[in-house]
Amino acid sequence: MRRFWFVALFMSILLVLSACGDDNASGGSGESKDTLIGVAMPTKSSQRWVDDGDNMVKQLEELGYKTDLQYAEDDVDKQIEQIENMIVKGADALVVASIDGTALTNVLEKAADQDIKVIAYDRLIMETPNVSYYATFDNFQVGVLQATYIEEALNLKEAEGPFNIELFGGSPDDNNAYFFWDGAMSILKPYIDSGKLVVQSNQTDFEQAATMRWDGNNAKSRMENILSKAYSGGETVDAVLSPYDGISRGVIQALKGVGYGSGDLPLPVITGQDAEVASVKSIIAEEQTQTVFKDTRDLAAVTVDMVEAVLAGEEAEVNDTETYDNGEKVVPSYLVEPVSVDINNYKEKLIDSGYYTEDDLK
Ligand code: BGC
Repeated sequence: MRRFWFVALFMSILLVLSACGDDNASGGSGESKDTLIGVAMPTKSSQRWVDDGDNMVKQLEELGYKTDLQYAEDDVDKQIEQIENMIVKGADALVVASIDGTALTNVLEKAADQDIKVIAYDRLIMETPNVSYYATFDNFQVGVLQATYIEEALNLKEAEGPFNIELFGGSPDDNNAYFFWDGAMSILKPYIDSGKLVVQSNQTDFEQAATMRWDGNNAKSRMENILSKAYSGGETVDAVLSPYDGISRGVIQALKGVGYGSGDLPLPVITGQDAEVASVKSIIAEEQTQTVFKDTRDLAAVTVDMVEAVLAGEEAEVNDTETYDNGEKVVPSYLVEPVSVDINNYKEKLIDSGYYTEDDLK
């Protein structure tokens, strides 16, 4: 009889232990099998967001999370609908790269009502208290890298000039666009003010230079306009500040359309951002001059850490608690370092780092 009680006791201890094991599995990352993370991305039309989505899914699934990845093709209402669906499907956390940063206030209130935590991915979500963290790159620094590249390529510190430059900004509904612009202007404005850099179009305000939805075709048309109106007297463009590779490629088409890149009319210095394959190929072909590489693998890793922290009710690691005010609060952020890439360092930064293979760039 004693032996029976002993065995019974032993069995119950085993049961309790295995139950504890189960609990651990469902609470932490090991046990996240039923935890669903919604990932809302802006568009598949730009390669960077495809990479972002792939990296997020890969890294979340490696930890055992379920994912729901959606692209909205730059349609704001579609993105709102996708986020609503994620809430209905019972997502436990949301990662959102917004199209229009100011358009998500209502839908994120619905998420908050269900206690679903939200991480802003790359682009700050504006005018809502319902965003826990912001994972991004140092956006001001992106603009500084682009403008410093132009400064060095034209040797602005030493050369007499004047040089002609045209300026392109990003989408006015994307908070990042202002940071890129301000970063670039922190370097270029003194040269514009002193006359060493001349903007023949006179379009020197962000509002005039902005490119709705980062659309390369809009940029192409604007550049064509500028070329026919402000460069018809034999002036040549020496540099173009472009905040994004898709815009750079549109600008290059416009320039080539009027003869740049052939005969004795070289293409100007043209910056970019994202190190998209098409633009790295363009850099290798000596058309686009520079881009800013943002390693989306690192951004995904930072974001996944934030997701795990909010799910566990813990604090995530951040390195900036001052810069990103969304109108409701300063959102604690982690800024990854962007890297300037041109023909001289693309192999080291993009191929040796394993981001692309040599074949990708052929
Ligand atoms: C991103 C850039 C990107 C741009 C256009 C911005 O919000 O930070 O990396 O070039 O959107 O997609």
